[in-house]
Amino acid sequence: MEIDWRIERLDEGEMQDPRDEGCLLRIVGKVKEEGVAAGQLEAYYILDVDLASSRAFFELWDMDGETCAIYEELMAPSQEDFREPLPRLLETRPGLLVIDYIALFPDFRGRELGREVMRQLVRCCADGNIGAVLLDASPLQHRDGAYDFFDHEVRALPWNGDEQDTEKLRGYLRGWGMHQMAKTRYMVAPPGSLSDTHTAKWPPVPILCFWNTCAYCRRWIDTDGDDWENGPEGPIHLGCR
Ligand SMILES: [Zn+2]
Repeated sequence: MEIDWRIERLDEGEMQDPRDEGCLLRIVGKVKEEGVAAGQLEAYYILDVDLASSRAFFELWDMDGETCAIYEELMAPSQEDFREPLPRLLETRPGLLVIDYIALFPDFRGRELGREVMRQLVRCCADGNIGAVLLDASPLQHRDGAYDFFDHEVRALPWNGDEQDTEKLRGYLRGWGMHQMAKTRYMVAPPGSLSDTHTAKWPPVPILCFWNTCAYCRRWIDTDGDDWENGPEGPIHLGCR
């Protein structure tokens, strides 16, 4: 099994290595099994010294409608910190990996591939800054627009009541070592309990973002160097003009 990554930066930081400061990254992974498309995942990598602070809200979470909704859901009713157990998990490693979904095509289900995808996602994308991994544990077939967004992925999934399918999926994810976060759609685990190793090589692919990715070749631009200029669609290498 292998995953082709695409990582895009959504916040407005300018450091080449986003681990030097806070960042909001959108991760898409195309899952392949022996070269054949087997599924897809989407996740966010969110890092700040204090992710629950209002400053982090304005600089990171509020950059994207979806992450803004995640923030609101994770906040405790007191509005001062995240719901348990996040404050404890983020104490020494302040970053979150929030997985929107891991979807496998019908032919690839029932052989523990989902667990292997989770292991690889954590290994490749949860660097030493990530203290908690969250997974949206609402069944794909019951999400809004399931057949518009996940037509192929939701085919042949069980179609019982929402509650019954949710309970079944959560029972399955508990077997991965994940725990339900009360009053949210998320299950949570520290990265170390989902994957025994994490990568020294992070990110697994160059991070794309408008202000340091060439509008033509999509490769990284070193904005401290002088072989680039601002083109009509954003920065470009001089040689790509
Ligand atoms: Zn270029």
